[in-house]
Amino acid sequence: MALHSGAYSGWRSPEYQSYLFAEGIDDYGSEAKAAQWVATAETSSHVSGDAVDIATYDAISWMAQRGDDYGLCQIYGNESWHYELRAEAIDNGCPPRYADPADDPRLQQ
Ligand SMILES: [Zn+2]
Repeated sequence: MALHSGAYSGWRSPEYQSYLFAEGIDDYGSEAKAAQWVATAETSSHVSGDAVDIATYDAISWMAQRGDDYGLCQIYGNESWHYELRAEAIDNGCPPRYADPADDPRLQQ
């Protein structure tokens, strides 16, 4: 499917996600700040294989218009590139977005 060509980051190993979280703490100055942008290895939907980040502007705009036809939804208001599989969206449309990952109850530690 067309998604494949625009996707640069799907499944991640727990080790890689932990690395990204550590980088996030460096970048954002604290664990709490980093949690608004990067999930930990325990909670990331990238590690469970349900999420994909979209690479190019064209792919992002295609997904914004057509993703729900495929059950793929933008989940966070601050991450226009991050999509997750929501099979029910095919019939019902995507659920309301969280402002950022820190608002996501799945990511509460
Ligand atoms: Zn993502």
